[in-house]
Amino acid sequence: MSKKNKEFVEKITAMEDDFAQWYTDVVKQAELVEYGQVRGTMIIKPYGYAIWENIKNELDRMIKETGHSNVAFPLFIPESLLQKEADHVEGFAPEVAWVTHGGNEELVERIAVRPTSEVLFCDYYSKNIHSYRDLPKLYNQWANVVRWEKTTRPFLRSSEFHWQEGHTAHATDEDAKQETDRMLNVYADLVEHYLAIPVLRGRKTDKEKFAGAKYTLTIEALMHDGKALQSGTSHHFGTGFAEAFNITYLDENGKSQFVHQTSWGVSTRIMGALIMVHGDNRGLVVPPRIAPIQAMIVPIAQHKEGVLDKAYELRDQLKSLVRVDIDASDKMPGWKFNEYEMKGIPVRIEMGPKDIENKQVVLVRRDTGEKEFVALDDLQERLPALLEEVQQNLYDKALTHRNEMTREAKNMDEFKQAVEKGGFIKAMWCGDLACEEKIKEETTATSRCIPFEQEKIANSCVCCGKEAKEMVYWARAY
Ligand SMILES: [Zn+2]
Repeated sequence: MSKKNKEFVEKITAMEDDFAQWYTDVVKQAELVEYGQVRGTMIIKPYGYAIWENIKNELDRMIKETGHSNVAFPLFIPESLLQKEADHVEGFAPEVAWVTHGGNEELVERIAVRPTSEVLFCDYYSKNIHSYRDLPKLYNQWANVVRWEKTTRPFLRSSEFHWQEGHTAHATDEDAKQETDRMLNVYADLVEHYLAIPVLRGRKTDKEKFAGAKYTLTIEALMHDGKALQSGTSHHFGTGFAEAFNITYLDENGKSQFVHQTSWGVSTRIMGALIMVHGDNRGLVVPPRIAPIQAMIVPIAQHKEGVLDKAYELRDQLKSLVRVDIDASDKMPGWKFNEYEMKGIPVRIEMGPKDIENKQVVLVRRDTGEKEFVALDDLQERLPALLEEVQQNLYDKALTHRNEMTREAKNMDEFKQAVEKGGFIKAMWCGDLACEEKIKEETTATSRCIPFEQEKIANSCVCCGKEAKEMVYWARAY
């Protein structure tokens, strides 16, 4: 092992040795988060937040382009309001944090810290929707929510996390259906084109759907260790919440109708996906389209006359084209290489006296480690192109990995063997909850989605052998 590689091994655990520890090490060493004072909470540090902000900005743009408006609803929910929709309260009750006192006084009614905001939006809609002219209502909010989790990990499962939650109300079931589809596609677009993570699109089984929903659509991604991660969900509520909250409108004939609702969300969990799909034993790898710094200039022998001047000049030339920064600190170049590889900056630009003499720079890709010499005259064209190549390569690599880690199972023996290898398992299902539960109990794999793109790989259910209704993707999951 070379000396350079050894330094990394000391800094972070190799992912082959202990993936969970590798994850924790990367989160810490790349300076993404620190643990908060209350167990399960996290402080998102500047570099981690800058990545989240880039994801957020792209998604916010897409949400607005599809006709939605941002709003801000309260952090608190009165207990009586949370209890209005039975399935919903049952689903969230174990995770709710309660406020019982205001100052020294015990409150007459407990107040929930929002675990999600459906009931607040429903309450609002019941008072603000009267006529078909008031529809659709297309609201979104960027917020933090609290879910009192027993076991927590930064980004993946934290007691408090950040997200956006869309809440919409429509005149017809068909309108709500279209909205549910539209937002799932927005999420898939975000995750595939910006985060360079391929996703499966499909519907959740009734067991896995959102508490109170008619159905839930999901995008599912595969992590490097072969476990799946739900990366965004879009729910069709039908009229369930509208009936519980009496959200009605008068249609064009003056007849009272219940509205049809949806909700949809993407959270800071997606940061966990980013780390676990693209990261390697040198640390984080950030796809260029969401990288806060796309290229880092590291001057070589910067004490020599003219090197720093040239490096700053280069930064100024590039900064209108790409997000570029320079490290002109007196740390050794080797330290800087390690640091920016750990942070996953897509491209490093090296420039020393010899390069200046030859009117060139050295570009080093984070994803492959490949070096190339580029003439200064060509750099403004080459660098943006290289960033796109890195972006595409990350997606292609993740897709190849997912394809290699997707297996078919026609019976439970095959299923169990496949589970041990990790990854997605395609298997037929009869649609019975009993089979789904049995599979989970025997293998710890859960149904991830019923994909829109169905294949008939067998006639009978993988579990009970009865006639199969659908093909399902299964996996152990985060
Ligand atoms: Zn079955």
